[in-house]
Amino acid sequence: MADRYDVCVIGSANLDLVATTSHLPQPGETVLGRGYAEHPGGKGLNQAVSASRSGARTAFVGALGSDPAGARLRAVLTNEMIDATAVTLVEAPTGRALIIVDDAGENSIVVIPGANATVSTVVELPSASVVLAQLEIPIDAVVAALTNARSVGSTVILNPAPAAPLPPELLAVCDVLVPNQHELVQLGGVRSMLEAGCGAVVATLGSAGADVHTAAGTTRVAAFDVDVVDTTGAGDAFCGALAARLAANDDLLEAVRWATAAGALATTVRGAVPAQPTANAIKALLRRA
Ligand code: ADP
Repeated sequence: MADRYDVCVIGSANLDLVATTSHLPQPGETVLGRGYAEHPGGKGLNQAVSASRSGARTAFVGALGSDPAGARLRAVLTNEMIDATAVTLVEAPTGRALIIVDDAGENSIVVIPGANATVSTVVELPSASVVLAQLEIPIDAVVAALTNARSVGSTVILNPAPAAPLPPELLAVCDVLVPNQHELVQLGGVRSMLEAGCGAVVATLGSAGADVHTAAGTTRVAAFDVDVVDTTGAGDAFCGALAARLAANDDLLEAVRWATAAGALATTVRGAVPAQPTANAIKALLRRA
């Protein structure tokens, strides 16, 4: 393990099992599927891949089952040059999402947290300039990890997804909170997040880009114009890329511009992990704009 990482991501890792059918089965109905694919996923893993591809030396903290899915996800971490020393192997099955998509693009999803539900703070976090978490692991683990990260001087980023009530002690240690528009509404809006102690709220706005809110005011960072194929993973690309650039000492607006380019590029490729853009692709888009 390196002495100090640029970015440490603590969060979920899933294997997504995706079946395509003409229509979603009704209760008790069996339908024949047309296709099937398996993809690595989970917000934590997606964001770690994004940070690494943006050029950050990245460590991941999470939990995998001792099963073939766990081995596959560990191989993804290795291939993406992400340190997995603090990934625990547990009895529970590796997290999975069972996804059915019909011809109209409607879906029906069952998420089995499995190993992700066992992530706790017994593991010591790898030391990193920036620590990034989401809410697909137990919130107690997130609170403990981010409180600890803040106390040792790391920059703390929280992507509050999926939306859940945030305890005041968690908001108080967030340097940057990155909700999407829906999560921001569920959390009660920008002002209350800033008053609770968040240094900045970066609200992602899909095709409208992102708003950077601080005590000094709000700045809109415009989206990049791209050919959108699938928006899955755009928010994760944004968060990982933002963490990487803050670790590289960009100021917040520069880092958000980089992250906005990363989010845009992620919409041009299907899937979540495969869609995470490289630093070179992001630089090319920034030059083009
Ligand atoms: P989430 O995926 O969490 O719902 P958003 O949809 O807000 O998050 O997307 C995250 C970021 O990805 C946006 O802030 C934006 O920079 C980029 N992005 C998303 N959708 C588009 C799009 N259609 N065109 C260009 N950029 C996009």
